[in-house]
Amino acid sequence: MREYAFELAMCAAVEADSDGLVARQLGSHTRIVDVVEVRRGPEFSARADITAEAIPDLAIESDVGVGRARYWKEAFDAPADRAESAVDRAVDIGFFAAERRNCRRYVRQTARYPDWFGSLRAFENKPDLGRPGDLQLQLRKDVSLGLFDEVVLVTESYVTGAHLNRIPEAVGVWRFFPEEGRFEVVREATPLSTDDPGIAVLDESPARVDVEPVTADEKARYRRRIAERAYGKGWRPDALPACERAEASGPAFHPDDALPYCAWKGRFVDPARECGADCGGYDPADPPEADVEAARARHSSWDPDPDGRDRRQVGLDRFAEE
Ligand code: SF4
Repeated sequence: MREYAFELAMCAAVEADSDGLVARQLGSHTRIVDVVEVRRGPEFSARADITAEAIPDLAIESDVGVGRARYWKEAFDAPADRAESAVDRAVDIGFFAAERRNCRRYVRQTARYPDWFGSLRAFENKPDLGRPGDLQLQLRKDVSLGLFDEVVLVTESYVTGAHLNRIPEAVGVWRFFPEEGRFEVVREATPLSTDDPGIAVLDESPARVDVEPVTADEKARYRRRIAERAYGKGWRPDALPACERAEASGPAFHPDDALPYCAWKGRFVDPARECGADCGGYDPADPPEADVEAARARHSSWDPDPDGRDRRQVGLDRFAEE
């Protein structure tokens, strides 16, 4: 559980220094990454104008364009059920506008999909290097695939030369002091070749290593998917604990950060796992006043409520026919 508290504090510190956005627990090709920072690309604002949500990959890759509306079934190279749910979602969030013609649904993009993100940085959190788990394998996977421009290990432990020798050379190592929200760079990360093909390490045992080649185009798609998920998800938990002991931020953080701080435990807590009748300090109450979306908007480049396009009414215009 302390890892969770460490991770929230670390996300707040990365976000405070970033021109883009931060998200937790994102699936990459081979594993779940603790924290991802998405830096701004040249058209970040255009992306923020489209929707606050993640845009489905299938909708982006489809032949649906901005100009002429197309019959949805002719614009997707995917099974009909997957294509249809991508269309539904794209309409709901305002990336597609839909119209009905002869009982068929025609769709078009409300805006061209922009070139909106720059580099991606992955953080692997390991507060205690004395309990590394499968850290080395995870980091080797990241370096071998080269999906992220930089990979950084973040720890609270004192980092020795022996630790550094066990960590792949390209991986950066930062110490983080959660009480102060401060980083100390022990070793800079070496940028990885994200434009080249990579090797996905699927599994590794003393006797064999299962790998899969990944093309540069596939990597570009995975990167876009990660950036989109990060855009939609962020890192703050959706709700704060319904407990008298809960507060809406920790002592070293902005009071309006909408983070689940527990005065009884003296740290951030994971409301879904730690809070409730099983906790010795639980005292039922309304959750502290906090607006998670507003906090995210205040502290990052994410826009919770973009305006402008003809999207809201088309989202409601869902119909079941062809
Ligand atoms: S339920 Fe327990 S962990 Fe959660 S806020 Fe209350 S005292 Fe803290």
